[in-house]
Amino acid sequence: MAKIEKYELVKSKLLYECPHCRFELQSKLKEAGKSDSCPSCNGLFEVPGVAHREAYETELAAIDQKKTQGKEAAKEARFQKQEQKAQQNRDKHAAAEVAETHRVAQAKEAAPLDQVTYLHNMDAKLGDIRLMMFLIFALIVLVTILSCVGSGLVFMQGR
Ligand SMILES: [Zn+2]
Repeated sequence: MAKIEKYELVKSKLLYECPHCRFELQSKLKEAGKSDSCPSCNGLFEVPGVAHREAYETELAAIDQKKTQGKEAAKEARFQKQEQKAQQNRDKHAAAEVAETHRVAQAKEAAPLDQVTYLHNMDAKLGDIRLMMFLIFALIVLVTILSCVGSGLVFMQGR
Protein backbone atom coordinates (compact mmCIF):
# COMPACT_ATOMS: atom_id res chain seq x y z
CA MET A 1 0.00 0.00 0.00
CA ALA A 2 1.32 3.41 -0.97
CA LYS A 3 2.65 5.57 1.85
CA ILE A 4 2.26 9.34 1.73
CA GLU A 5 5.01 11.44 3.37
CA LYS A 6 3.81 14.91 2.49
CA TYR A 7 0.65 16.22 4.09
CA GLU A 8 -0.72 19.24 5.90
CA LEU A 9 -2.81 19.33 9.04
CA VAL A 10 -5.43 22.09 9.03
CA LYS A 11 -7.96 22.19 11.88
CA SER A 12 -7.83 18.40 12.50
CA LYS A 13 -8.09 17.70 8.77
CA LEU A 14 -5.32 16.07 6.78
CA LEU A 15 -4.63 17.56 3.36
CA TYR A 16 -2.56 15.52 0.96
CA GLU A 17 -2.30 14.34 -2.63
CA CYS A 18 -3.06 10.94 -4.01
CA PRO A 19 0.31 9.18 -4.44
CA HIS A 20 -0.90 7.74 -7.72
CA CYS A 21 -2.59 10.61 -9.55
CA ARG A 22 -1.81 13.68 -7.38
CA PHE A 23 -5.52 14.24 -6.84
CA GLU A 24 -6.03 16.56 -3.85
CA LEU A 25 -7.49 14.61 -0.96
CA GLN A 26 -8.48 15.28 2.60
CA SER A 27 -9.27 13.04 5.55
CA LYS A 28 -10.12 13.50 9.19
CA LEU A 29 -7.19 13.26 11.58
CA LYS A 30 -8.73 10.23 13.29
CA GLU A 31 -8.52 8.33 9.97
CA ALA A 32 -4.73 8.63 9.84
CA GLY A 33 -3.13 5.20 9.36
CA LYS A 34 -6.23 3.66 7.82
CA SER A 35 -6.20 2.43 4.25
CA ASP A 36 -8.29 4.35 1.76
CA SER A 37 -8.76 4.49 -1.95
CA CYS A 38 -8.52 7.52 -4.18
CA PRO A 39 -11.96 8.61 -5.49
CA SER A 40 -10.25 9.73 -8.67
CA CYS A 41 -8.05 6.75 -9.64
CA ASN A 42 -9.17 4.11 -7.14
CA GLY A 43 -5.53 3.66 -6.09
CA LEU A 44 -5.01 2.38 -2.56
CA PHE A 45 -2.99 4.30 -0.01
CA GLU A 46 -2.54 4.73 3.71
CA VAL A 47 -3.92 8.00 5.10
CA PRO A 48 -0.91 9.95 6.42
CA GLY A 49 -0.58 11.78 9.77
CA VAL A 50 -0.29 8.81 12.17
CA ALA A 51 2.23 10.71 14.36
CA HIS A 52 -0.13 13.69 14.56
CA ARG A 53 -3.09 11.47 15.39
CA GLU A 54 -1.18 9.69 18.13
CA ALA A 55 0.03 13.01 19.60
CA TYR A 56 -3.53 14.33 19.45
CA GLU A 57 -4.91 11.21 21.12
CA THR A 58 -2.24 11.36 23.83
CA GLU A 59 -3.20 14.97 24.44
CA LEU A 60 -6.88 14.06 24.59
CA ALA A 61 -6.13 11.24 26.98
CA ALA A 62 -4.11 13.63 29.16
CA ILE A 63 -6.98 16.13 29.16
CA ASP A 64 -9.40 13.33 29.98
CA GLN A 65 -7.19 12.13 32.78
CA LYS A 66 -6.91 15.66 34.14
CA LYS A 67 -10.69 16.01 34.02
CA THR A 68 -11.10 12.68 35.76
CA GLN A 69 -8.52 13.62 38.36
CA GLY A 70 -10.24 16.97 38.84
CA LYS A 71 -13.55 15.22 39.29
CA GLU A 72 -12.05 12.75 41.70
CA ALA A 73 -10.35 15.55 43.63
CA ALA A 74 -13.65 17.45 43.79
CA LYS A 75 -15.41 14.28 44.90
CA GLU A 76 -12.75 13.67 47.53
CA ALA A 77 -13.00 17.29 48.69
CA ARG A 78 -16.79 16.99 48.92
CA PHE A 79 -16.46 13.76 50.85
CA GLN A 80 -13.94 15.29 53.22
CA LYS A 81 -16.16 18.31 53.74
CA GLN A 82 -19.13 16.07 54.53
CA GLU A 83 -16.96 14.01 56.84
CA GLN A 84 -15.73 17.17 58.54
CA LYS A 85 -19.29 18.38 58.97
CA ALA A 86 -20.33 15.02 60.39
CA GLN A 87 -17.36 15.11 62.74
CA GLN A 88 -18.27 18.63 63.83
CA ASN A 89 -21.82 17.49 64.50
CA ARG A 90 -20.50 14.54 66.49
CA ASP A 91 -18.19 16.89 68.43
CA LYS A 92 -21.06 19.29 69.05
CA HIS A 93 -23.23 16.45 70.25
CA ALA A 94 -20.46 15.13 72.49
CA ALA A 95 -19.79 18.62 73.84
CA ALA A 96 -23.51 19.09 74.54
CA GLU A 97 -23.56 15.75 76.34
CA VAL A 98 -20.53 16.69 78.42
CA ALA A 99 -22.08 20.07 79.21
CA GLU A 100 -25.34 18.37 80.24
CA THR A 101 -23.48 15.90 82.44
CA HIS A 102 -21.52 18.76 83.94
CA ARG A 103 -24.69 20.76 84.52
CA VAL A 104 -26.39 17.83 86.24
CA ALA A 105 -23.34 17.25 88.40
CA GLN A 106 -23.22 20.94 89.26
CA ALA A 107 -26.92 20.97 90.08
CA LYS A 108 -26.34 18.07 92.46
CA GLU A 109 -23.45 19.87 94.13
CA ALA A 110 -25.01 23.31 93.96
CA ALA A 111 -26.81 23.22 97.34
CA PRO A 112 -23.92 22.01 99.52
CA LEU A 113 -21.53 24.27 97.63
CA ASP A 114 -23.76 27.27 98.27
CA GLN A 115 -24.02 26.40 101.97
CA VAL A 116 -20.27 26.13 102.23
CA THR A 117 -19.88 29.47 100.48
CA TYR A 118 -22.50 31.03 102.76
CA LEU A 119 -20.83 29.73 105.91
CA HIS A 120 -17.46 30.82 104.62
CA ASN A 121 -18.83 34.32 103.96
CA MET A 122 -20.42 34.42 107.41
CA ASP A 123 -17.14 33.36 108.94
CA ALA A 124 -15.35 36.19 107.15
CA LYS A 125 -17.97 38.71 108.32
CA LEU A 126 -17.74 37.49 111.91
CA GLY A 127 -13.96 37.78 111.71
CA ASP A 128 -14.30 41.37 110.53
CA ILE A 129 -16.67 42.21 113.37
CA ARG A 130 -14.30 40.64 115.92
CA LEU A 131 -11.38 42.63 114.53
CA MET A 132 -13.40 45.87 114.68
CA MET A 133 -14.50 45.16 118.26
CA PHE A 134 -10.92 44.42 119.23
CA LEU A 135 -9.76 47.71 117.69
CA ILE A 136 -12.48 49.71 119.51
CA PHE A 137 -11.60 47.94 122.74
CA ALA A 138 -7.89 48.71 122.24
CA LEU A 139 -8.75 52.35 121.52
CA ILE A 140 -10.81 52.61 124.73
CA VAL A 141 -7.97 51.05 126.74
CA LEU A 142 -5.46 53.42 125.13
CA VAL A 143 -7.67 56.47 125.84
CA THR A 144 -8.18 55.30 129.41
CA ILE A 145 -4.44 54.84 129.98
CA LEU A 146 -3.68 58.22 128.41
CA SER A 147 -6.30 59.99 130.53
CA CYS A 148 -4.99 58.26 133.65
CA VAL A 149 -1.44 59.34 132.85
CA GLY A 150 -2.70 62.85 132.00
CA SER A 151 -4.63 63.27 135.23
CA GLY A 152 -1.64 61.84 137.14
CA LEU A 153 0.61 64.47 135.61
CA VAL A 154 -1.90 67.28 136.38
CA PHE A 155 -2.17 65.97 139.93
CA MET A 156 1.65 65.91 140.35
CA GLN A 157 2.02 69.39 138.88
CA GLY A 158 -0.71 70.70 141.17
CA ARG A 159 1.24 69.55 144.23
ZN1 LIG B 1 -5.53 8.96 -7.30
